[in-house]
Amino acid sequence: MRVLITGAGGQLGTDLAAFCSAAGDEVYGFDRAGLDVASRSAVHSAVTSLQPEAVINCAAWTAVDACEGDPDRALALNGTAVRWLAEASHRIGAHLVQVSTDYVFDGTLDRPYHEWDDTDPQSVYGLTKLIGEQEALVLGASATVVRTSWVCGVNGNNMVKTIMRLAEAHPQLSFVDDQIGHPTFTHDLAPVLRRLALDRLSGVVHATNQSACSWYQFAGAVVAAMGKDPGMVVPIATADLHPARPAPRPANSVLDNAVLRMAGFAPLRDFREPLGETVAALLAASAG
Ligand code: NDP
Repeated sequence: MRVLITGAGGQLGTDLAAFCSAAGDEVYGFDRAGLDVASRSAVHSAVTSLQPEAVINCAAWTAVDACEGDPDRALALNGTAVRWLAEASHRIGAHLVQVSTDYVFDGTLDRPYHEWDDTDPQSVYGLTKLIGEQEALVLGASATVVRTSWVCGVNGNNMVKTIMRLAEAHPQLSFVDDQIGHPTFTHDLAPVLRRLALDRLSGVVHATNQSACSWYQFAGAVVAAMGKDPGMVVPIATADLHPARPAPRPANSVLDNAVLRMAGFAPLRDFREPLGETVAALLAASAG
């Protein structure tokens, strides 16, 4: 497959580009300096000249709290940029895979969210990502919107790295026990994104690692994978966070991977398996 990957300098884009290359694809991976997705002319020029069979958009403005303070920038990067990618892909017959988020939901449902549940974003980030979903799908069937959650990997910034850093510096850590989700690891998600691009599956798909947990439980699992006592992590409530974060987080971020299941995909692994691999890789890297 000839595939163009945007946001290839980010945590997901880095692993996706590596996975596609290893699978034998002709990969054109662009970081922000290489291709600014907010520039319509740059997007059209890259897509038209390279003629990819698939475009996988991993670029986004993912600083959830910062998005609250600059909605126009969030809209440009998470929303209208996807229109440029969709129209350019449509023009040459390429399949577009747009990566999206659990933040399109308000998180109040008392069961896992499936692909057909009503969206109701509570933050600028969530709203602009929802607009990106709509822009991806508006031109027809040749696009997949892949919602995922709590993304972590060896590259870039994420909660695994934050928890590991805090666990080395402090005897006790506090994490909220009233926000639950599916931690998802880039090296497990990348093969699913590639498969969806190859299959040209249309519409909205939820793709996450399995086993729901709270951030408190996740932090305990990270600490345990480091060989430390998970008892060093204590549970708190979101209401105990001071100051409160600018953007509200969904209490329930658990995404049911219903479409993948119905399409015959094997479920992604329990998050503890890729978590263990990621912590081991990070510990090995820090040991030199
Ligand atoms: P990262 O922030 O690691 O990667 C996003 C990349 O997009 C960064 O490398 C960033 O570059 C790049 N980017 C920003 N603006 C532009 C631009 N104008 N043109 C081109 N590239 C740009 O995020 P993730 O890898 O974690 O996220 C991948 C996808 O997954 C996103 O769609 C995100 O919304 C989604 N997602 C992420 C979750 C998470 O927990 N992280 C959860 C659910 C979904 P730079 O660093 O230089 O700004």
